[in-house]
Amino acid sequence: MTTKYVYFFGPQGTEGDASMKNALGGKGANLAEMAKLGLPVPAGFTISTEFCTVFFAEGRQFPQSLRDEVTAAMRKTEEAMGMKFGDAEDPLLLSCRSGARTSMPGMMETVLNVGLCSATIPGLVKKSGNERFVYDAYRRLIMMYSDVVMEKAEDIEPAEGKGIRVQLEHLMARLKKSKKYKSDTELTAADLKRLCASFKKKVQEVLGREFPDDPDEQLWGAVGAVFKSWEGRRAVSYRKIEGIPGEWGTACNVQSMVFGNLGDTSATGVAFSRNPATGENKFYGEWLVNAQGEDVVAGIRTPNPLNEETKNPQNQNLPSLQTEWPELYKELDGIRSKLEQHYHDMQDIEFTIQDKKLYMLQCRNGKRTGTAALNMAMDMLGEGLIDEQTAVTRVQPAQLDELLHPIINPASEKKAEAFLSGLPAGPGGACGKIVFTSVDAVEWAKRGETVILVREETNPEDVEGMRAAEGILTARGGMTSHAALVARGWGKCCIVGAGDLKIDLGTKRLTVGDVKLKEGELITLNGTKGKAYAGALEMMDATENPRFQSFMKLVDQFKKMGVRTNADTPADATVARQFGAEGIGLFRTEHMFYGAGADEPLFLLRKMILSKTVEERKAAVAELFPFVKRDIKATLEAMDGLPVTIRLLDPPLHEFVPQDPAKQKELATALGIRPFEIKKRGEALHETNPMMGHRGVRLGITYPEVTEMQIRAIFESAAELKKAGKSPKPELMVPVTCDVKELDATKVIFDRVQKEVQEQMGVELPCLYGTMIEIPRACLLADRMAKTAQFFSFGTNDLTQMSFGFSRDDIGSFLHDYLEDNILEADPFQTIDQNGVGQLIQMAVQKGRGTRSDLKIGICGEQGGDPASVEFCFRSGLNYVSCSPYRVPIARLAAAQAAIKAKK
Ligand code: PEP
Ligand code: MG
Repeated sequence: MTTKYVYFFGPQGTEGDASMKNALGGKGANLAEMAKLGLPVPAGFTISTEFCTVFFAEGRQFPQSLRDEVTAAMRKTEEAMGMKFGDAEDPLLLSCRSGARTSMPGMMETVLNVGLCSATIPGLVKKSGNERFVYDAYRRLIMMYSDVVMEKAEDIEPAEGKGIRVQLEHLMARLKKSKKYKSDTELTAADLKRLCASFKKKVQEVLGREFPDDPDEQLWGAVGAVFKSWEGRRAVSYRKIEGIPGEWGTACNVQSMVFGNLGDTSATGVAFSRNPATGENKFYGEWLVNAQGEDVVAGIRTPNPLNEETKNPQNQNLPSLQTEWPELYKELDGIRSKLEQHYHDMQDIEFTIQDKKLYMLQCRNGKRTGTAALNMAMDMLGEGLIDEQTAVTRVQPAQLDELLHPIINPASEKKAEAFLSGLPAGPGGACGKIVFTSVDAVEWAKRGETVILVREETNPEDVEGMRAAEGILTARGGMTSHAALVARGWGKCCIVGAGDLKIDLGTKRLTVGDVKLKEGELITLNGTKGKAYAGALEMMDATENPRFQSFMKLVDQFKKMGVRTNADTPADATVARQFGAEGIGLFRTEHMFYGAGADEPLFLLRKMILSKTVEERKAAVAELFPFVKRDIKATLEAMDGLPVTIRLLDPPLHEFVPQDPAKQKELATALGIRPFEIKKRGEALHETNPMMGHRGVRLGITYPEVTEMQIRAIFESAAELKKAGKSPKPELMVPVTCDVKELDATKVIFDRVQKEVQEQMGVELPCLYGTMIEIPRACLLADRMAKTAQFFSFGTNDLTQMSFGFSRDDIGSFLHDYLEDNILEADPFQTIDQNGVGQLIQMAVQKGRGTRSDLKIGICGEQGGDPASVEFCFRSGLNYVSCSPYRVPIARLAAAQAAIKAKK
């Protein structure tokens, strides 16, 4: 039996449903589901994502079996609509749209009005009684088709500004200018007829091929182009950013056209069942009379508001659907409720009104900002629309980042005067230097600049620039424009439709009234209010959100794995604790020698490193001791009652040798030696591969007095805190181990110092003794390591480095190529390589617990805050993950979602 690739949907006999997203794509599955719900969906069919894979495997061809399936589905479509494709009297026109499993706004292709040709035009003119409409539809078909099918799908890469679409737009603009028209709607039937003829001539001239005049040829060309667009440059780049696998493929939806541009009794619109920027439970959307869907999203005309209560300053004088056509608004509002009750989630819908009859063209779970996701989850929980577990899954861990993101300090904003306002499309605040092109945004960001991308409007070509920018500002477009959708999806601060903004790309300047700003000047955006300010305003954190707190409480009900933090200072520890960290998973001792206040301890550390004799070293160590103890004690105190994993000094010592002659001299004096001797001693410490050199536990094996000093600092701090009525919970961690004998040797010192301090201070000082697992050999020998270690903490930074043989410091020179060529799916230093490094981790867990069943296991590499890695850690049976303070809420949510997923 041949595989079924084509699925019909319509008023009767719909073959798919919402559960078939993988095969039908999001759009196709939802069209089928809406048809099943009895909503007014124009009939059509979906060619499955599975066929997309076949299409590429078969050299971009359509097998006969597919053509037969399409013919059968077409017959049903024609029956449902009571019209025929290619018929001279009453022609059915079709749209071809892509639709992957997850929505990729604006990334792939659409062709509308397929089937218009010299044979069908007269029939449609007669039937509609509207010649203008028919030629307007035809000119749109020529524009889209020549661009998508005849140029892009043929891999033609025209020079900047020479693409067929741009050239056709020029023709249209020229005609409008010569007739002194302001808007497209002023073009008459005769104008459009002439325009279509000159369009076809231009297509022939530029692309060397005639515009196809056969409906079947148009249809198959469009279907092929939709599939090919899956491998188009924009789509590939978006997939990479969003982590969408190439093998998913896209489906192709072929659907009967209904027209929003049939005249003043027709319209088209997009809507969200709740506000996608704030989450507010109000029907929110935009519509345009006498227009096709692309007009609403393209941002060329300012769309009208859907209803009265969601009007904003930009559209307050425009008519709402609610007041213009109250019956239709009521019907649409009813569909809104029906869809929310059915899907239990906020829906993003597209509708068309043809001659005052409402049609639903699309519905899908709407993209939303992090703020909106949180608010909707809590609202819907309150409304009884979803349960607690579902509420927890409704916010993506990465979206929390946005809630923790900076906003403009309200006090400083109050004092400032906005020079520009637009639509608040993406929340929060952003401050950066103005750039005017996507390429510049990427380049400037690469050199470490924070930039705001300012554009007339954005199109899908701009995604990489938008990604690189801190904030986005556009002159045109509505809340559903491409810029708004993409920014919202990423939780980026974004303002669109700032109509007063004039951009001069030639001189790289923007003008708003009297205000003139040029490239590189600072600008601040408030994406929540839609206001822009010249210069840099003060920013602040938005953590004190009570909704956020109650959501996180809910999260903790489902979370089973612990979440700790990597913190090296009492200040970091305090922030992390506020974010819900349940302890410190990694306190990197060496960080007390960097940054503010580090001069004195660093000097003493250097003294210790460059000591030549044991006596010299012991003296230096004794001087260093109070500083180490001070930092450890303060951190234990900040985390009182919670475990703190303190790691012994790890990095290669030569990193701390002074390079500055003045510092070398000072050190020489302190050690009573000549400066050149310092240089010599420093050179002796030099290593070819310092990351694999004299670091971690190896330092303690050579200089046990250094280890002893640190252990004593821990126990004395704990004893003093305990005596002061506190409840310190230190854990000692030995880094860079590869053999249990290293652990045994260090344990001798640990046991002795513990006993000494306990006796001396007269208090019990329990302290777990454990190790980092960050060398592949330690994973292989984890059963032996666990004989001495009471806990393991995976150092996946080093473990990744040593498993791949990729330097963690230099991967930047080739990572890009590895990702581009699909050799790696993701940067293994950001997200755990589950196939390789993951195996080592799971083996170590199994072997370690084989020796010691209650072995506590965590992770403290950077991946500990990455949601996919958190899920992996949960599945692998880890007790906790540890990550930087600001990622603690993200890890908590990821851990809760992992537990929920495992339950299902
Ligand atoms: C690690 O290697 O994963 C780790 C946490 O230690 P560091 O980054 O300090 O080497
Ligand atoms: Mg390490």
